[in-house]
Amino acid sequence: MMPLQAKFYPCPNCGGAMTYLPATKNLHCDYCQSDEVIDVERFDSDSKLNLDSYLSKATEYHPKKIKEIFDCPSCGADINFEESTISKLCPYCNTPLLTSPNNPLKPSAVLPFVVNHKEAQGFFKKWIGNIWFAPNALSAFVDTQKALNGLYIPFWIFDADTVSQYEGERGDAYYVTVNKRVYENGKEVVVQEEERRIRWTPVSGNTSRRFRDLPITATNILPSKLLAKLEPWATEELKNFDLRWLSGYSTYEYNLTLEEGNREAKSVMKSIINDDVLRSIGGDEQRVYSISTNYLDEKFALPLLPVWSSSFSYAGKEYNIIINAVSGKVVGERPYSYWKILFLVVSILIVVGVGVWFYNNH
Ligand SMILES: [Zn+2]
Ligand SMILES: [Zn+2]
Repeated sequence: MMPLQAKFYPCPNCGGAMTYLPATKNLHCDYCQSDEVIDVERFDSDSKLNLDSYLSKATEYHPKKIKEIFDCPSCGADINFEESTISKLCPYCNTPLLTSPNNPLKPSAVLPFVVNHKEAQGFFKKWIGNIWFAPNALSAFVDTQKALNGLYIPFWIFDADTVSQYEGERGDAYYVTVNKRVYENGKEVVVQEEERRIRWTPVSGNTSRRFRDLPITATNILPSKLLAKLEPWATEELKNFDLRWLSGYSTYEYNLTLEEGNREAKSVMKSIINDDVLRSIGGDEQRVYSISTNYLDEKFALPLLPVWSSSFSYAGKEYNIIINAVSGKVVGERPYSYWKILFLVVSILIVVGVGVWFYNNH
């Protein structure tokens, strides 16, 4: 059997492998500094897919779980494209390799990198600088070339126009003066106090909200809780899918289903609608008895969004840090240096101890 071969984009000038250069529309050759424009249109929001018709045949679009081995065209090594990877760097010769998407739904759009590797290191360092008690080893680690990986992560993005009818009660606070019996020096006395009370009035009404590009991660390759904190995404900058945007980065296909993504999106929408209802009821307190929502004109797309990601172990624990490669926003789990904390605690104890000694002796 012929081995499958991954490909790369050779420079028309020198033949070297070209990579997508962040914040440009160019494939760039690092060897001879040539550029080639990626002539791709902006992603048209009208090309989003109708949610109902895809959900009705949802099992047809479930992700494929195949592991493929490709030959690196540059060094000949066997490269494992695990987890349906579309692109990655050859771990032996660093050539930016590309294959084709495998899953039934192809990525619909790409948000190209804006933040480059060096800038990402800068954002990472600034973030560490803001953490109290960050271990010194972390700062040294960021400077290494392999500390940050450029990844394209698949997201489901959802549109919906919603109208919600609600029933509940609006609570308005008022105060009354009441007499209270209290004991003062062993004697019972009567004092007057202000007491807060709520007057409840039944209310009903409706609210409406349009959701546009609500992002839900379509892979579990990185922790979804961290990815959710990377919002907002500049989805107005989405470009049509083209493999050239992916050259030089690792790209994953979806491994969570459209149904899972839609369920998660609905729960996010519901909590936003619930807040809308509370605001619409008004008053000082609210009771909500029912909300019934109509979802109209539901659409979705499957864009790839860019992140710089790092994971490192400290004191036997794994930590993840992810950077939005368009806005530069950093999110992560924060390790603490036990020595730095111990030092601070001991310093405080000494200051307190000296204070107590001074007080007692003067
Ligand atoms: Zn070149
Ligand atoms: Zn190679």
